[in-house]
Amino acid sequence: MNNKGNNQKIISMDWPQERVEQFQEDLLYWYDDRKRDLPWRENQDPYRIWVSEIMLQQTQVVTVIPYFERFMTWFPTISDLAAAPEDQLLKAWEGLGYYSRVRNMQAAAKQLMTEFAGEMPTNITDISRLKGIGPYTAGAISSIAFDLPEPAIDGNVMRVYSRLFQVADDIAKASSRKVFDHLVRETISHNDPSSFNQGLMDLGATICKPTSPDCVSCPLQTHCLSFAQGTTAEFPVKSKKVKPKPVSYLAQIIRNDKDQFLIEQRPSQGLLANLWHFPLVEWAPAKGKTASMPLVLTHYADLLQDRVVWQKESLGEVTHIFSHLKWFVELTFGIVKEGEVLPIKENQKWVSLEELRDYPMPKIQEKMLLKLKNNL
Ligand code: SF4
Repeated sequence: MNNKGNNQKIISMDWPQERVEQFQEDLLYWYDDRKRDLPWRENQDPYRIWVSEIMLQQTQVVTVIPYFERFMTWFPTISDLAAAPEDQLLKAWEGLGYYSRVRNMQAAAKQLMTEFAGEMPTNITDISRLKGIGPYTAGAISSIAFDLPEPAIDGNVMRVYSRLFQVADDIAKASSRKVFDHLVRETISHNDPSSFNQGLMDLGATICKPTSPDCVSCPLQTHCLSFAQGTTAEFPVKSKKVKPKPVSYLAQIIRNDKDQFLIEQRPSQGLLANLWHFPLVEWAPAKGKTASMPLVLTHYADLLQDRVVWQKESLGEVTHIFSHLKWFVELTFGIVKEGEVLPIKENQKWVSLEELRDYPMPKIQEKMLLKLKNNL
């Protein structure tokens, strides 16, 4: 069933109906016996399923669980989510990253309030029209909440199917999706698509893992071409991601005589929109060198030089990887000179370390804070 890259064609199943049914039964039986006990599986509430699926897009299940539970306490209904203040919304997402996900969810919740009386629509066409809901999430909500036989194709499902059928299409390419969509449509249970898709999710997460799949414990082993031919290590085919571009920043950590620190809010558009962190200045350090104070000072306005006493050595460096960028942040620390008042910008504030906890912060700020606390 090899389906080589450039000449992409849809693989057609040659299984008789009984084999398809056996495949479904094997997966459903295993899922019923082994399914993971997860808070969003308590019922088929589409709102809970939606929130969990959005959180799970870039984050591991164990990390998501406490976030999910808190989110449901803070915003128990679609209407609560639609009405949530942005600060609280960002706080609920703090540490999960990719904040556009939660912003889009709120936009979709507002859409649901105005167009669907606060209820999730029960057909995939309307679900797919909601902001931030792509084909995977639409398929997951439709199948898990409403028992519609719709595929929910993510990396896990592509991995499982690529091994089952030795699909050689590159799973990193968007165009390969339709190959997997077709295969899942040909195999999905129409009696219980909810358990079928969740079974695939659990199988991909716990058995058919990226490296060293546990084929001995796999309920689909007798259906698996890669297992039969000893080629599991060759699938899925996945091209390498482009390396994220490095960007260097100096963090200006400034303390005043009231033991407060200067923080600033990011613009309302773009990366980490509206989140708070210590002021950052982009700079270009010499390769392999850490921040030396004369160099640092040339990057600061004269104003700061005159009014802040800078510590001679930097506090060290923290890094953070976004999908397309890698930030290298060198931490510099200064104290406002006695009797001086530092003029601050509109988007800046003085806050104590205690108060800082109330502001929505990106992961990089948490890393800076930890470094600062270790050095204070
Ligand atoms: Fe994956 Fe192995 Fe199961 Fe095939 S037999 S689906 S490779 S775990």
